[in-house]
Amino acid sequence: MSVNTEQLAFLGGPKSVTEPPGNMFTWPIITQEDEEAALEVLRRGAMSGTDVTEQFEADFREWLGTSYALGFNNGTASLQAAMYGCGVGLGDEIICPSITYWASGVPAYSLGATIVFADIDPVTLCLDPEDIEHRITDRTKAIIVVHYFGHPADMDPIMEIAERHGIKVIEDVSHAHGGIYKGRQLGTIGHVGAMSLMAGKSLAVGEAGMLVTNDREIYERAIALGHYERFNDRIQSEALRPFIGLPLGGYKYRMHQLSSAVGRVQLHHYEERQAEIRRAMNYFWDLLEDVPGLRAHRTVKDSGNLMGGWYAAHGHYRSEELGGLSVSRFCEAVRAEGVEDCFPGCNLPLHTHPLFKDADIYGHGRPTRIANSPHDVRNMDSGLPVSSSISAKVYSIPWFKHYRPEVIEQYALAFRKVATHYQDLLADDPGNPATMGGWNMFKPRKSVKAD
Ligand SMILES: *Cc1c(COP(=O)(O)O)cnc(C)c1O
Repeated sequence: MSVNTEQLAFLGGPKSVTEPPGNMFTWPIITQEDEEAALEVLRRGAMSGTDVTEQFEADFREWLGTSYALGFNNGTASLQAAMYGCGVGLGDEIICPSITYWASGVPAYSLGATIVFADIDPVTLCLDPEDIEHRITDRTKAIIVVHYFGHPADMDPIMEIAERHGIKVIEDVSHAHGGIYKGRQLGTIGHVGAMSLMAGKSLAVGEAGMLVTNDREIYERAIALGHYERFNDRIQSEALRPFIGLPLGGYKYRMHQLSSAVGRVQLHHYEERQAEIRRAMNYFWDLLEDVPGLRAHRTVKDSGNLMGGWYAAHGHYRSEELGGLSVSRFCEAVRAEGVEDCFPGCNLPLHTHPLFKDADIYGHGRPTRIANSPHDVRNMDSGLPVSSSISAKVYSIPWFKHYRPEVIEQYALAFRKVATHYQDLLADDPGNPATMGGWNMFKPRKSVKAD
């Protein structure tokens, strides 16, 4: 099909995207199999049981090859349990990237610990291994690694630093289910992996989370925190055994079995659906390989690394290659071409939010971040240059769920057309607004229609 690529749609020309998207972006893919699995639980009245969840955990162990998997009511709880599992407690510190969803770090506060933010790598958008070591103190208990927007973090140097200092590594896999780092499954490289399985993520189940580990002590402590019904005679830890029967954290973190039932079906199809997503997303970026100003956020070919699920896929933006065109005007022009989901920015840098500066959450009489540690949390406002400026350098791209070349080509054309005609946009460019992106990336689906 020939499209007039001379005039930008933003300036009155024809749109690049003319094909209706159909089910291209529909996620999760729900079939009768999911419906029947959910109905089976409902009809049996087994919503609060653990039998289906335990089967789901067994599926997860088999998938990732870990010794243990523990289901949670959401990813946030699984992260808090991972921290507790690693021994994070009163006066301790965790190191966490500033560019992530808040649940990667905030649960530390409720354990009496505090957060030390570290910067991200501008290419992977994940924790920068070079920015960790100088932030480690005698109170650092864990490093939280987020495989941001599906991209594996550079785990080898991070593990090396952690081992040298005797601290634990928690992988937050909420963006990257099924991703691979040097041939290894994400979530299985650190001491423990924790992840959200909420309906917007790439392994989309509903409100649910999963913790995976090969470490029995971490697993048992994670049970002890918020799974009273599993905190029973099977616990081996001598330190925990006197307390079996009641949850040490006072939390109840059991997974709803409508989630575990749907989760089993979703996981069963995940590798196949993920392969289709990878093929589609890589095709999109291959089409844009030579376009100035645009760079893929993806793993290097033949590196042994693979993007996991491409959750909230984004691209890198090099304004300097496009005459200084602002990313927000660029995205506006791409949206005008018929690409609905192109917006500037990503997660806002957590270190700029008052929660991490001023909030006295538990009535200590001073901000919790300080109250929980004798060290003032260093570099709260500085020393995070990449995190502080990343929003002007990234934008969201369509998250294709199917490999349909002719449709993907239209979307790629929209980006190419705007980038190659950037000069037409420079004169009226108002520049970027003060804030781009948000504290979360979740956009609830407006309508649920059967495809
Ligand atoms: C979604 C998300 C979480 C939290 O998971 P919930 O299931 O929403 O509680 C944690 N970390 C990251 C990086 C996330 O994107």
